[in-house]
Amino acid sequence: MKNVTHWIGAGPVEGSGRTSEIFDPATGEVAGRVHLASVDEVDAAVAAAVEAWPAWRDASLVKRSQVLFRFRELMYAGRDELARLISEEHGKVHSDALGEVARGLEVVEFACGIPYLLKGGFSEGVSTRVDSYSIRQPLGVVAGITPFNFPAMVPMWMFPIAIAAGNTFILKPSEKDPSASLLMASLWKEAGLPDGVFNVVQGDKVAVDRLLEHPDVRAVSFVGSTPIARYVYETGTSHGKRVQALGGAKNHMLVLPDADLDLVADAAVSAGFGSAGERCMAISVVLAVDPVGDELVDKIVSRVSALTVGPGDDPSSQMGPLVTAAHRDKVVSYLDLGVSEGAKLVVDGRLTPVRGGGAAQDTAGFWLGPTVIDHVAAGSRVHREEIFGPVLSIVRVSSYEEGLELINGGEFGNGTAIFTNDGGAARRFQNEVEVGMVGINVPIPVPMAFYSFGGWKASLFGDTHVHGAEGVHFYTRGKVVTSRWLDPSHGGVNLGFPTNG
Ligand code: NAD
Repeated sequence: MKNVTHWIGAGPVEGSGRTSEIFDPATGEVAGRVHLASVDEVDAAVAAAVEAWPAWRDASLVKRSQVLFRFRELMYAGRDELARLISEEHGKVHSDALGEVARGLEVVEFACGIPYLLKGGFSEGVSTRVDSYSIRQPLGVVAGITPFNFPAMVPMWMFPIAIAAGNTFILKPSEKDPSASLLMASLWKEAGLPDGVFNVVQGDKVAVDRLLEHPDVRAVSFVGSTPIARYVYETGTSHGKRVQALGGAKNHMLVLPDADLDLVADAAVSAGFGSAGERCMAISVVLAVDPVGDELVDKIVSRVSALTVGPGDDPSSQMGPLVTAAHRDKVVSYLDLGVSEGAKLVVDGRLTPVRGGGAAQDTAGFWLGPTVIDHVAAGSRVHREEIFGPVLSIVRVSSYEEGLELINGGEFGNGTAIFTNDGGAARRFQNEVEVGMVGINVPIPVPMAFYSFGGWKASLFGDTHVHGAEGVHFYTRGKVVTSRWLDPSHGGVNLGFPTNG
């Protein structure tokens, strides 16, 4: 049985009280326990980070960058082991877990360039013998609170840049799949990161609330569901912290009649069912503009029927189980809800065969196969609410304008995609759609590390997206220095406001 501890200062630290179960989603069995931090345990992590900060802040840019390079190499060498841990606790298939690690590493690679990223501006001679320059400095202790669906990648959206910029970091991972965090902590140590610069507190609301209140935590990055994102933003900012809180999603793919329907069906199935739909950038609604609906649904159904569902460590599995029984049950509840709302269940994932078992609903573990619901009514709950599982809804619309209105009328604004061969329509869409990340014939438009990731509306609370230039901005604050090296000609008193001359 696993015993997943905190990582505070120099290494692993046992919790002193509450724990929670970690499951193997493929079997439903308990695989271990994770400690849930008390207020004192969070305080110990913050104290370690406070102590480590001055020396890390003062380490040269090149030294910090060198540690990042070593961490990148160790993570790359350890990617299989990291992917195995992720797959074991999250359920996603090994190749998908490897993809998650690769996308996270891109942010580490971006952060290796911190000497360049932190270059400021300099203006010589803004006034007589006066020069001005801008610099960006780290904040101090910063925290990251992350969701279950990307236990390595989402933390890597945050800590590489925070640490490279000279902050010390406390990660509070999801209690559902916490092991990846400890492997990453041990690789940081091996890379030469000083003790206390990267800390992990395992936990739940108690740990989150303490981080949000603690006077020594300067900034909080959060990724998770919308209600908790809103809460974290409101609580953290009310305690004077800088907060970026990324929330839930409901991503639509708008299919215009001129699109290549085979490519659309490939994209919809890949983006809808990869990682069992437990991705904030998953496509969950296909808006089929008349008259393509029937033909497109046939193509989607034929692809879905050919998918192999099974345990994440079976190389032939394309889709694994869901993360917990409670989450699977919530996702399943939308199938009957859809039917009661008048939609048609064209593929029922409860009946999907699972490798090594029977139908999903009869197999031990947290299984639900890929599900397709057609003729979902615009504005129904199945259409509007985040389901976060392998459920693809098809909504029929009569025009581009009707599809756009549905997207813009939704609560969320994380990702979206248009499929068309008409460049003018695509260009109009990118301009008119109220969503933070837009794909044109790209179903999961996750920006590269050197751009910033984040949605609009209820998908983001705060002003700054993660990684890229906005990530660097979030973990630093600006200072402008105006300097004059005096010579005798500068003598004399002047009470007027400084002007340039
Ligand atoms: P969640 O909101 O339940 O949990 C996220 C984090 O918040 C976890 O660390 C958890 O321990 C903590 N938490 C949970 N309840 C809390 C409470 N009451 N008070 C304080 N902290 C609490 O999210 P999840 O189920 O782990 O992840 C799935 C959600 O994350 C989905 O809604 C998905 O769309 C979203 N997500 C969004 C993005 C994005 O970039 N916008 C990326 C990944 C996931």
